[in-house]
Formats: sequence, structure tokens, C-alpha cells
Amino acid sequence: MRITFHGAARNVTGSCHQVECQGKRILIDCGLYQGNREMAEENRNDFGFDPASIDFLLLTHGHLDHCGRIPLLSRLGFKGTVLTTAATRELARLVMLDSARIQEEEARYRNYKANRRRSREEQVEPLYNTLDALNCLDTFVDIASFDQPHDLCPGIRTTFYDAGHILGSACILLELEEGGKQRRVLFSGDLGYNGRAILPDPATPPHADTVIMESTYGDRLHKPLEPSIKELYQAINTTIARNGNVLIPSFALERTQELLYYLREGIEQERLPRHLQVYLDSPMAVSATQIFRRHRECFDEETWAVISAGRDPFELPGLEIIRDTAESMALKHVRGAVIIAGSGMCTGGRIRHHLRHNLWRREASVVFVGYAAGGTLARQIIEGAEVVKVMQEEVEVNAEIYTIGGFSAHADQQELLNWHAQTGQPERTFLVHGEVEAMEVLAAHLMETKVEMPDLHQSFEL
Ligand code: ZN
Repeated sequence: MRITFHGAARNVTGSCHQVECQGKRILIDCGLYQGNREMAEENRNDFGFDPASIDFLLLTHGHLDHCGRIPLLSRLGFKGTVLTTAATRELARLVMLDSARIQEEEARYRNYKANRRRSREEQVEPLYNTLDALNCLDTFVDIASFDQPHDLCPGIRTTFYDAGHILGSACILLELEEGGKQRRVLFSGDLGYNGRAILPDPATPPHADTVIMESTYGDRLHKPLEPSIKELYQAINTTIARNGNVLIPSFALERTQELLYYLREGIEQERLPRHLQVYLDSPMAVSATQIFRRHRECFDEETWAVISAGRDPFELPGLEIIRDTAESMALKHVRGAVIIAGSGMCTGGRIRHHLRHNLWRREASVVFVGYAAGGTLARQIIEGAEVVKVMQEEVEVNAEIYTIGGFSAHADQQELLNWHAQTGQPERTFLVHGEVEAMEVLAAHLMETKVEMPDLHQSFEL
């Protein structure tokens, strides 16, 4: 029995771990590397194993950094089964198809530029294409439900537990048996935390002797949620009062649905105007919201109460869905409205168009509700740049800027430690999915377990 870390090793993207037992090879996640160009190039490197040799892939959730290399895996010979929840299968489909489209567009653009220079040798192939994404979906099989063991083969059993991170997300337990030796190996996946909208709290994890835990926020504590919601309402009310637009750059999965949920609640509680005009200008977020509506089995009690009262948790009286590009462009004439658009870090997508038309206006505001990596347009604005470049044009930043930190999808240090404490003093804990600094701080708090911070492609005997 052995485990090898083929991704998210001392960084936060490209999750991919391999377990070998009973002559079978099992992957847990197969995510894309995201971030700067160097990271993106990592996607083109060898997986560190032969894709054709993998029997099973257990998928924790539908974020790109966990499912984004499955089409590539399939293109390079993977013939096994992908096991996951029904909600994750649908979200992964959306995310992988979107990623394929971006890969194709980027390759087309780079080739066009190379052709202009007549440098044929610089031609690039997309990492994978739409057909690869569609093909790999044939290998997906839904698990029956959370908490129910499933035998992969004699000696290997798996159980999925609700991780409370995004719709359908799971922690995964592997119960392994080989040569008289037994091992209980628990993968946290990405962990949510208690008290968030829409999703139930993360399930109590089972006991394990080996734990593989994410450590994204291993070195910090989140701001509480309620003051963040209050700040969101206040930002909207003051901006609307002066007839400005509120731009909210948002991630299409989970964050946008949370925003719709809080906006609806704000209107119902009369903390926001009843006829608040809200434009959801992101085709991907619209599709994701439809997937949420189809998977009520993933909702918490509060969301069920909304449904039982005959209401839609994501519907607002003044909500308008924008799919068409021309309709999106026409929003430049709108005043006194909330505009939700992607991408969350303003690196692409329709939000850039809205920033160009609103950033220079004193009456407008921009509300950041998610993580903004260094070097992104979002980060420049957050850090107080007076002028920024948006779509090749210099735009003055006169709008009011809000950074609301309480809407994270990840557990913070205390929540990670609480979750770990429930796994019953595992002998060994592998920290993954975190920057080294965050891991080291978290490791110092983990007593009575041997902590490892594996390097890329590093193997351990279980
Ligand atoms: Zn995630």
C-alpha cells in the first residue's frame, strides 16, 4: 500500500493523489494547475504516472483545481471509472467544458499571433478540447449517497462524507486491506465550515489512521459572516441612494449563488429595497445556478425552509439574467443597479467591460467578495491603484472600493483543527493544498500526529 502526491504539493492547485493497493491504482482528484504562466505550464508536464494504469478516480468536488485535468487524463488513455456525487458530476461537466473552451481559444489566439510572425514552430495544441471533456464524462458514475460504503473491489472500500465546501463536495475515506494489513485513509478534499448559507455544516469525519488534509487557510482566521453580510447591504444601499452601480466580481460556482441567497434574504428582511435591480451577467453562473436548483438534496435546513415556504432561494423580484453579449454591453446605460459578473479576480470575463464603464464614476462602487491573487486586476484595485488598465484602456479609479472578507468557501485554521481533532488521533497527517507558510503554521498546531508536507511526486508507504 502506498500513496503518492502528484499535485497540490506545497501549493494550492492541481490536486491529484494516487493510492496503490491490491494491484489497483486509485486517484483522488485530477485538477488543473492555475495561476501564473509557470504554473499553467505544469499542466503540460507528465502526470507522474501512466493514465492508462489508473482503475478508479474518486472526485472530491467540481472546482477546476480538482477536476480540470480529467479530460487530459482521458485523452491520454484513462479507461477507469470516475466516482463522485451527482451534483459534483454536473458541476464538473460545466467547469471542464468551460475550461476546454478557454484552452481552445487560447491556442487559437497564440497560433494566430505565431502565424503573423510566420513562426510555424511555435504552433500550440490546446491542452484538451471540448470533445475530450465530453468523452471523459462517459466514465463518470454517481455514488448512491453520502455516508454509504461502496466496495471498489475486494480489499478496497470507499465512503464519501459531506465536506460543506461547495455543492456536492465530499471528504473521502478509503478502507484498504492488503497482506493482513489494514489502513483507513481519509482525504479532506476542500473543507467548508459551519453556519454558511445553502450548504449543511461539514459532516463529522470518520476515524482514520492516515489523514490527507487541505491547508489553504492554515495560518489565519476568517472574519465572521454576519458583519460581512451587513457590510454588503450597506455598500448596496449607499451606492443605490446616489444612483451609482454596484459591481460585484464573482466566481460562478457557489459565491454567486450565495450572493443571490443573501440578496433575497436582505429584501425579505427589508434590509434592501424591494425592487432592487440586479443583473446576473455571467452565462456560467446562470448554468451553475440551474444545477443548484436541481440538487436540493445538497441543501441545509434553512434553504429547505425557504423552499417549503414556496419560494426559490435564488430568485429576486428585480433579478434579470443576461446571457447575450449585446445585452451585456447595453448595461453601460444602466444606473442604480447591482451587476454581478465574472471573473472573480477580474482577469477575464464580462466584469472588465463593466469596470471600464463604472470605475471612473464617483457614485459607483466595486464590492470584492472573494480571493484576489497577486498581480490580478482585482488585487490592483483592492490595493488602491489610482489608475488601472482595463481592456487596453487606462481608467481612473474613483468608485468606492469594498473588500468584504467573510465569504470564504474554505475552513480557517480553527475549523481545520476542529475537523482534524474529530478524526481520532491519526498516526500520520499529510498537509496538501496550501502555501508552505500556511502549512508550517498549521503543522505547529497539530499535536500527537506525525505531520508530513510532501513534495511533488513524493511517495510514502502506508
Ligand atoms: Zn474547492
